[in-house]
Amino acid sequence: MESTRKGLRGGDLYKDTYERLNCAECEKALATENSPDEVFNVRKCPDCGREWKELP
Ligand SMILES: [Zn+2]
Repeated sequence: MESTRKGLRGGDLYKDTYERLNCAECEKALATENSPDEVFNVRKCPDCGREWKELP
């Protein structure tokens, strides 16, 4: 799983006018899945199901 930072840099993600992370392919805001066992959050596109990890 790639990081959100890498996704932003590579053009797979972008930030909308509300500073939310969006999937560039689907133009959908990513959902957040908190996993208590991990130090990062998983950000998931509701359309294509692609996931990125969001590091603190
Ligand atoms: Zn998507």
